[in-house]
Amino acid sequence: SSARPPQRVTVLGATGSIGTSTLDVIARHPERYRVHALTAGTRREALLAQCRVHRPAVAVLAREADATWLRERLAAADIATEVRAGEAALVEVAEAGEVEVVMAAIVGAAGLLPTLAAVRAGKRVLLANKEALVMSGALFMDAVARHDAVLLPIDSEHNAIYQCLPPDRGDGLAGAGVTRLLLTASGGPFRGWAPDALAAVTPEQACAHPNWSMGRKISVDSATLMNKGLELIEACWLFAARPEQIQVVVHPQSVVHSMAAYSDGSVIAQLGNPDMRTPIAYGLAWPERIAAGVEPLDLFQVARLDFEPADEQAFPCLRLAREAMRAGGTAPAVLNAANEVAVAAFLDGRLGFTAIAEVVEAVLDACPAVPADSLEQVLAEDARARRLADQRLSLAR
Ligand code: NAD
Ligand code: MG
Repeated sequence: SSARPPQRVTVLGATGSIGTSTLDVIARHPERYRVHALTAGTRREALLAQCRVHRPAVAVLAREADATWLRERLAAADIATEVRAGEAALVEVAEAGEVEVVMAAIVGAAGLLPTLAAVRAGKRVLLANKEALVMSGALFMDAVARHDAVLLPIDSEHNAIYQCLPPDRGDGLAGAGVTRLLLTASGGPFRGWAPDALAAVTPEQACAHPNWSMGRKISVDSATLMNKGLELIEACWLFAARPEQIQVVVHPQSVVHSMAAYSDGSVIAQLGNPDMRTPIAYGLAWPERIAAGVEPLDLFQVARLDFEPADEQAFPCLRLAREAMRAGGTAPAVLNAANEVAVAAFLDGRLGFTAIAEVVEAVLDACPAVPADSLEQVLAEDARARRLADQRLSLAR
């Protein structure tokens, strides 16, 4: 690999938790990777600092006013990065000819179009943005196959399962002798809480995750277990699994990142410290291995591994996600859209914690699944679900 020129990487969502961890790994291997483009939503100061270090060819912000601000600062610092704004620019840096690797780390539905563009351009796509796959699973996986994209899961559980499965699964999980996928969950900050104690929890409590440091949206999803529900749907698409083949296992230490169970009784697990740089480095270097800056796992310090079932009574989002996957078609997109609206309202102090699941369930009931035959249809159902969720929020006030 040392004879190759560095691979060009676009980091979508560079200023986020996954984006900054990605740049940390890239900076450890300047001979292997070179940043082509960095993108952010609104955090222009953070993007400026990253441009000073990584000198990308292109930087993208959501709004033109922020792009103008960044353009002026970069010009003053004599940095030749081209600055652009908006969704068309995100798509362009995702599909650019000189780019080999795209890290898809925008949070939520905003990441769908640029991530799909990277897939359709046949890139190596490192998928952190699970919402994109949840929304458009069938279309997304069809595009991966059609355009020979290399899709590597970055979500730690799916990265673990990927590492526990044989590389060639032409005949699916059954053909490889896999009977079940065991999806581990930390249980979030409210594991073991009684349902009635959950109604009063605050955004600060919900975002204080015991093991992982993450963006605010996924932190709330971890606290409601919607994150595990989205991950169940994600696993169905990534590994061609049925929801019944996936067992959620609460494992509070977050050291076993997930497992695959085989017909001969073997269970293969991937372990490591809870640090997203491990799956990120795996995705960047696959099928090789590179240093990620992660502390070696000290099993004596971990000392014990606990496993317990999930409490779907207290955390109904997991059940709602499983039901949406079973319903199929546009139901997962509706689930995701309603959840994004409800989580944003919770983070704003406009909605109670337990009302997140109530909003999602009500919107799912109001939007029966239809076939997700086209992207237009998925986006239309996403928009409808957001409108209905907004209506419920104003009723709840
Ligand atoms: P984050 O909130 O820390 O970062 C999100 C990034 O997306 C930021 O760079 C932000 O500027 C950008 N962004 C947000 N809205 C945007 C918009 N409308 N247009 C353009 N850019 C926008 O989130 P995160 O924790 O890094 O998570 C990113 C994705 O990775 C999510 O889909 C999450 O579910 C997934 N993921 C994260 C972790 C983790 O440990 N953080 C683990 C597994 C999966
Ligand atoms: Mg995960």
